[in-house]
Amino acid sequence: MTDRLRRVLAEPETGRFGPEANLIRDTVRRFVADEILPNVDRWEEEGTFPRELYPMAGRIGILGVGYPADVGGTPTGIWGQIATWEEMARCTSGGVAASLGSHHIALPPIVAHGTPDQHRRFVAPVLAGDRIAALAITEPGAGSDVANLTTRAVRDGDDYVIDGTKTFITSGVRADQFTVAVRTGGPGHGGISLLVVEADTDGFSRSGPLPKMGWWPSDTATLYFDQVRVPAANRIGPENAGFRIIMENFQMERLQLAVSGYVTAETAIVEAWRYATDRTVFGRPVAEFQANRHRFVDLVAETAAAKEFTYRAAEAVARGEDRTTEISMAKLLATAAAEHATYAAVQIFGGAGYLRGTVAERLYRDARILAIGGGTTEIMREIVAKRIL
Ligand SMILES: Cc1cc2nc3c(=O)[nH]c(=O)nc-3n(C[C@H](O)[C@H](O)[C@H](O)COP(=O)(O)OP(=O)(O)OC[C@H]3O[C@@H](n4cnc5c(N)ncnc54)[C@H](O)[C@@H]3O)c2cc1C
Repeated sequence: MTDRLRRVLAEPETGRFGPEANLIRDTVRRFVADEILPNVDRWEEEGTFPRELYPMAGRIGILGVGYPADVGGTPTGIWGQIATWEEMARCTSGGVAASLGSHHIALPPIVAHGTPDQHRRFVAPVLAGDRIAALAITEPGAGSDVANLTTRAVRDGDDYVIDGTKTFITSGVRADQFTVAVRTGGPGHGGISLLVVEADTDGFSRSGPLPKMGWWPSDTATLYFDQVRVPAANRIGPENAGFRIIMENFQMERLQLAVSGYVTAETAIVEAWRYATDRTVFGRPVAEFQANRHRFVDLVAETAAAKEFTYRAAEAVARGEDRTTEISMAKLLATAAAEHATYAAVQIFGGAGYLRGTVAERLYRDARILAIGGGTTEIMREIVAKRIL
C-alpha cells in the first residue's frame, strides 16, 4: 500500500522532468542516501552537521546545480533545480537542507548583477563548497517590511562603512561571506543597496547559533556591523538598486520553499501511512478506520494539488514570464499542505509522535518555518491581493 501511495504522490514527477533533470535527481538522491540519511538523526540531536558536507556536495556538482558553467556551476533548467530541491528536502531535516542550501539565496544576486571579479571571488569558491555564503536582509526592526531596513552603509572614498544589526540569518554562524542589504540612500525602497561582506572584516561579529523550534542543525545567527569597512567594489549592481534585486531574488527562494512544503507533506503522509498500517488499536490497524482513510485522502489531494500548482509556477519561470503571483500562491498552498500533513502525521502516531526521535515529530517542528521564512503567508496574500484584486 505504501508503494501505491508513493506512486500517486510522485506521479507528476514523471512528465516534466527530462533525462538531464532525472540524472541530476539520481545524483542528489544518492548523495542524500549515502551522506545525509545515515547521520541525520545524530546531527539533529547535535544541532549541527560537519562542515565537510559542503565540499562533498560541491565536488559532485550538487551545490552548483542551476548556475552557469563560467562561475563553476552545473547549468540546467528549472526542472533540474526542482529535482535537486526535492531530493534535498527528502533528507528529512529542514535544518541540514537550509544551511547546505543557503547559497541559493545568497549567490543569485551576485551571479545576475555581479562583476567577473565578484564571480571569481564570491561565487566559484562557494559552489565548490570551499566557502559558505549567507543572505542577510532581516533586521530586529525590519523583517516583512524590507523597505524600512536601517543598517546603514556610508560611502567613504573607495569604501562603504557599515553599521547595524541583522538577525535570523541562516548559515550565519559559519558563513565566510554575506550578501547584505544596506541603506545607502534615503528612506524607503529607493535607498537600498547590496554589499558582499566577508566574515573576517574588522568590526564584524556574530552570535552563536540561535536556539530554534525546528531546523536544529541549521546555524541561524545575529550579525553585528560596527564600522565595518568594505570596498565599494563589493557592491552588487548599481547603488540604491538593491530593493528590486532583493525582490527578484525572493522569487526563487519562495519557489524553493514551496518545493520544501509539498515534499515535507509527502514525507509526512508516507511516514504516517506506514505507521498507521503497522499500529493495531482495538484489534485493527489504525489505517483501517474510515476516519483516518478519509483524512489521508484529503492530505494526498491537497498535497498533489499544491505540487501541481508549484509546477505550474515553475513552467512560467521556464518560459521567462513574470511569475510573482503564481509563486506567491504556490508558497501559500504548499506550506499550508506541509502544516496540515505534519499535524496529521503526529496525530496518527499518537503519543509516539509527540516524543523526540520520530521523523513525524521533526517534520512537524521543521514545517512551521515554511510559512514564515522568505516572506510570511500574510505577505504572500498581500502580494497576490495587490496583483489580482
Ligand atoms: C529559521 C529562520 C531562518 C531565517 N533565515 C533568514 C536568512 O537567511 N536571511 C534573512 O534575511 N532572513 C531570514 N529569516 C527571517 C525571515 O525571513 C523573517 O522572519 C520573515 O520575513 C518575517 O519577518 P519578521 O520575523 O520580522 O516578522 P514581522 O515582519 O515582524 O511580522 C510579524 C507578523 O506580522 C505579520 N504581518 C506583517 N506585515 C503584514 C501585513 N501587511 N498584513 C498582515 N500581516 C502582516 C507577519 O506575517 C507576521 O505574522 C529567517 C527566519 C527564521 C526564523
